[in-house]
Amino acid sequence: MTLSYVNPTDDSPWGTYLSQVDRVAPLLGPLSRWIETLKRPKRALIVDVPIELDNGTIAHHEGYRVQHSLTRGPGKGGVRYHPDVTLEEVMALSAWMSIKTAAVNLPFGGAKGGIRVDPKKLSQKELEKLTRRYTSEIGIIIGPQQDIPAPDVNTNAQIMAWMMDTYSMNTGATATGVVTGKPIPLGGSLGRVKATGRGVYVTGREAARRIGLDLIGAKVAVQGFGNVGLSAAELFGQAGAVVVAAQDHTGSIFNDQGLDLSRLVPHVHATGGVAGFAGAEAGDNEAFWDVDCDILIPAALENQITAARANRLKAKLVLEGANGPTGRAADDILFDRGILVVPDVICNAGGVTVSYFEWVQDFSSFFWTEDEINVKLDKIMVGALRNIWDTADRHKVTLRTATFAVACERILSARQERGLYP
Ligand code: NAD
Repeated sequence: MTLSYVNPTDDSPWGTYLSQVDRVAPLLGPLSRWIETLKRPKRALIVDVPIELDNGTIAHHEGYRVQHSLTRGPGKGGVRYHPDVTLEEVMALSAWMSIKTAAVNLPFGGAKGGIRVDPKKLSQKELEKLTRRYTSEIGIIIGPQQDIPAPDVNTNAQIMAWMMDTYSMNTGATATGVVTGKPIPLGGSLGRVKATGRGVYVTGREAARRIGLDLIGAKVAVQGFGNVGLSAAELFGQAGAVVVAAQDHTGSIFNDQGLDLSRLVPHVHATGGVAGFAGAEAGDNEAFWDVDCDILIPAALENQITAARANRLKAKLVLEGANGPTGRAADDILFDRGILVVPDVICNAGGVTVSYFEWVQDFSSFFWTEDEINVKLDKIMVGALRNIWDTADRHKVTLRTATFAVACERILSARQERGLYP
C-alpha cells in the first residue's frame, strides 16, 4: 500500500529512495518479508513554528521531524532550513540516514528535520526564536536516547547550541547529548565540522586507488562550497589534487590550473559564496557540468545530476557529498558510461560517524583529541567501504545497491530479532 500523505514521482527524493529499496529487495532473501518496514517512516511530525519578527508581525513556518527507523537505536539526522523543504524530502533524507547509520554500523536509526524558511532573510534574533520554537515543538520526540538532531543545510553549531539549550531548559537538566555538531565548549567534538568532507575524501581516496586514479594532479570539480564541499576540496588539495571548478548558489568559477584554496576559502567566508573570486573565471552554471575533471563532488542539494547532465560529465569518479544528488535515470547512465559513483549513503557518512563519537564522548564526559577522532573516522570509513565493495563484487551490483544491501540486511535482521510488537 502506498502512503496517502505523499505523492512521490520518479525523480522526487522519496520516489528515488523507494526505487533504491526495490532494487535491493532481491538480494535480501527471507528478510525481504520485512521490506515494507523500510518503505514508510515510523513516525512523521509536522509542526507550526510561529515567531514574532523584528518588525512586529507574526510569521508562521512549517516544520518537520521524521523518524524513519528506530530499530537499531535512537534516530539520528540533521535539521535543514530551506524554503523548498517538504515533508517528502525530509522523509527521504530520514530514510537515507537509516541506510547510512546501518552501512557504517553505528548504533542508530535514521531521522531528519527541516523548516520551510529562507534563513538568510532572518535576523540573528529571529533565527534564534525560530530554532527555539521548533525545538520546543519537536521536543516531544527528540532526546539523547530517542532522536538526536545535527546540522544540515543552513544550520550550524550555533543553531545546535540553541537547540541543546532549549531542550535542556524544557526538561530541567543539561542534556548535551540531545544534539551533535555543537560548539566545543558545550560538549562538541573536535573534528566534527570537517568530518563529512573528510569522509568524502577518505572514501574518494580509496575509490581512486581501486580504479588506478592518481590523486596527485587529479582535477576535481565541486558543487556546493559549504561545510561539506569546502572541507572535501581542502583535503583533496592537500593530497595533491587541483580543484578546477566550484559552484554554489552565488555562481560558478573555473580555473584549469587549479583554484588557490588558501585565497578562495577566506573569500567564501567573507562574501558568502564563490562569486567574485579574483583568481578564477566566472562562467555559466550549466557549463560546470561540462568541465574537464577526474573527480566530481556534488555537495549541495538533491537531483543535481540529471540524466542530461549525466550524459555530459567528463569525470571518472563521482563522490556524493550531498544527499540524493543523482537522479534515478542519471544513476543508470553513469553506470553504463563506466563512471564510478561512491553513493551518498557511504560517501557522506563521515559526519554521522563523528556525531556518534560526539554522543559517546558526551555520555562518558571524556574527550578525544582531533587526531584520535580523525584516525578512528578513517578506520571506520575504510572498513565500511571495503565491506560494501566486497558485497558489490559478490552480487555484481553498483556500490549504491551494495550499500543498501549491507544496510538493509542489518536493519531488517534487527527488526526480525526484535519481533513485531505487540
Ligand atoms: P551548507 O549549507 O554548509 O552548504 C550548502 C552549499 O550548497 C552552499 O555552498 C550553497 O551555496 C550551495 N548551494 C545551495 N543551493 C545551490 C544551488 N542551487 N546550486 C549550487 N549550489 C547550491 O550545507 P552542507 O552541510 O555542506 O550540506 C551540503 C549537502 O551535504 C546536503 O545535501 C547535506 O544534506 C549533505 N550532508 C551534510 C552533512 C553535514 O555534516 N553537514 C552530512 C551529510 C550530508
